[in-house]
This record gives sequence, structure tokens and C-alpha cells, in this order.
Amino acid sequence: MQYRKLGNTGLNVSEIALGGEWLERKSEAEVFAVVDAARRCGINTLDCFMSEPNVRANLGNAIKGEREKWILQGHLGSAWRNGRYLRVRDVPSVEEAFEDLLTRFHTDYVDLGMIHFVDRLDDWQTVLDSGFIDYMIEQKKLGRVKHIGLSTHSAEIARLAVEHGVVEALLYSVNPGYDLLTELPPPDGGISDPYAPALRGMDPLRDSVYRLCAERGVGINVMKCFGGGRLLDVERSPFGVALTPSQCIHYCLTRPAVASVMLGFETPEQVYDAVRYEDANDDEKDYARVLFDAPRSTYFGHCTYCGHCQPCHKGVDIAMVNKLYDLGIQHSETPATVREHYEALAVHASDCIHCGLCETRCPFHVRVAEHMKTVARYFGK
Ligand code: SF4
Ligand code: SF4
Repeated sequence: MQYRKLGNTGLNVSEIALGGEWLERKSEAEVFAVVDAARRCGINTLDCFMSEPNVRANLGNAIKGEREKWILQGHLGSAWRNGRYLRVRDVPSVEEAFEDLLTRFHTDYVDLGMIHFVDRLDDWQTVLDSGFIDYMIEQKKLGRVKHIGLSTHSAEIARLAVEHGVVEALLYSVNPGYDLLTELPPPDGGISDPYAPALRGMDPLRDSVYRLCAERGVGINVMKCFGGGRLLDVERSPFGVALTPSQCIHYCLTRPAVASVMLGFETPEQVYDAVRYEDANDDEKDYARVLFDAPRSTYFGHCTYCGHCQPCHKGVDIAMVNKLYDLGIQHSETPATVREHYEALAVHASDCIHCGLCETRCPFHVRVAEHMKTVARYFGK
């Protein structure tokens, strides 16, 4: 495993890191097995954005007794309310959820304290105005947050946060789809052609984020390296070609300021598969060759199952519903297991009342309300 400096933080992170998101709903033994595999492979950095108590406790127990060996990236502003994940910005709620994180991890500090998931300008303003940012600074002075970071999918927010000066690291969604496929308006102001034959190159705003971070010594840990698995699948890839995991990882690790790629694993085998990157040769890592002739299409509008749109006040598990639908439509007939999983959900797409609230929280501009109608028609409920 290679290790890299995360900006000016002084932290030496493993270039492949463990993102905990897929460990929700797993047993303690399953979580232990994944953490153990990560440890054996030299992974030393762990992200926990989840507020769900069991996954926090399972991860905390998995690293108990060797806390100092791990770089713990915890999120502030991710809370658990009435059995659901909720983003919070008011200081008492942020504090309560942070205390819970520390308790469940048997620790009194996080190495990286991320201001959780800020994708909108008004939300960033709330972070600044609500006392949240002052709370972060205070926690840093107290040594409970060693370094302040921020997680975002938005290049605009990433820039603002870095320019603000307090943020020392980003957890930022990076992959070639996000960087290369932005809809740029045609020069004549007409309607852009989503099937234009050539890539238009790097999105200038995203490019400026990488450069600003490199200039200011702000390190980037990457999320969404595979775009929710889509980049690995020729049928679903926005490029019309499939990349390999090593090509995706290499793309991310070759962006300026990027130190680490955080990957979600459900099994030890997935950990071992991912770290094959460390032994891949240049040819195996070469993503440019694959993307060169790729047909262009737009990436936004596709669900990556990230769950940021929650909570739905009707109780729809939007990410799961979308995932089951996507799994189903890959086949000429819906596989029985997919249908069974869907039918076992407590709430279905047909329960959606199309309020659109989830859409305001979706970083990928998925038209969830409209999509729920499609899913309900597909599964018949
Ligand atoms: S609809 Fe958007 S926020 Fe919700 S899971 Fe899909 S990509 Fe994530
Ligand atoms: S649009 Fe549907 S899925 Fe989204 S929050 Fe409203 S009820 Fe829930």
C-alpha cells in the first residue's frame, strides 16, 4: 500500500481507504471481517459519515484497542433521529451526534472532522451563520477534531470552503464522468447536443477546485470513484464504455491534491480486489486509452444510491428503490430475487406523493418524484 500526505494536515493516508457506507445493515462479524481485511492490506484511513448507531458501534468495536493506528474521518452534522439519518446544522444537534460518534468509536477525537455534506449555497451560508463553523473551530482548539474538513459533491461549494480558509481537507466526489461530461452550452447559445461525438474536456470549475486545493495545501479524499458502479458497467456507463476499478482509482489518484480514494466494501473479497490496484501495471491503469473514443453523454440525472436525498417523509428508501429498479431493468424479465426484495420493502414507489423535497437534497439532480412513477409502473406498486 502506498501512503500519501493529505494536503498540509501532516496525515499520511493510505491511497486506498475504507468508506463505511456499505457496512450499514451488516452484522458485527461482517464489519469485523471487512475491517480486518483492510488492516491486512495496509489501509489506515476510515470514513464514517453514517449516523446509524449499529454501524458506528460495529466500526468502533472493530478498531477498538488500535485507535491510534487509524486515521478516523468522522462527520459532524450527520445525526440519527426517529430511526433515520438526518442532516443537522444547529449546534446542539451537531454536538449530540458528535458525542455519539466519539462514544461509539471509544475515542475522544477524530483525525478529520468533516462538515457533513454541503452541496448548496444556502446550506453553506447556514454552516457559517448557525455557529456550526465556530463549533468546529472550538473542537479543533480542544483537540477533539484534529483537522477540519468538508464533504461535498459541488465544485462551487468546494471552492468556497477552500477559499474560506478553515477547511483543511475535502471529501469530494471525483471520477471521469463528473469531470469530463458536464453539459456545456454550445457557443451559439442553442440547445446542447447530449450525443456530441467528442468529450469537451475538463469542466473548468472542477478543474479550478483541484488547482486551488493543490495551491492551498488542502488535501482531497475521494468518494464516488466508480460513480455508484456505473463506470464499471458498459450498459450503464455514461461514456458507453466500461472502465476497470484500477482505471477509475488511477484517474482519481492522478488528480491534483488527491491523496486517497475511499471505497465502500461489503466483503473482504472486495477489499482484496480493490487493492490489486497497488500491483497493477501502467497499461492496466490507463483510463485515457479507454475514454478516448467514448461516446459522450451526460452523467447527471442518474442515481448513485448515495442516500443523501433522505429522509423521505413517506418513508420511501429512495436509494434502495432506485437500485432495485436499475437491477431489474438490466434483464428482459425482472429477476425473482429483485422483485422479492422490492416487495419486501415496507414502503414502495407508489407511496410517493411527488412532493419533490428529496430532489432538493440530491447532488446528482435525479428527478426522483417523476422517477418514482416509472418505478411504481414497473413493479406494479
Ligand atoms: S436520488 Fe440522488 S440523493 Fe437519492 S440516492 Fe439517488 S443519487 Fe443519491
Ligand atoms: S418526492 Fe416522493 S420519494 Fe421524494 S420525498 Fe417526496 S414522497 Fe418521498
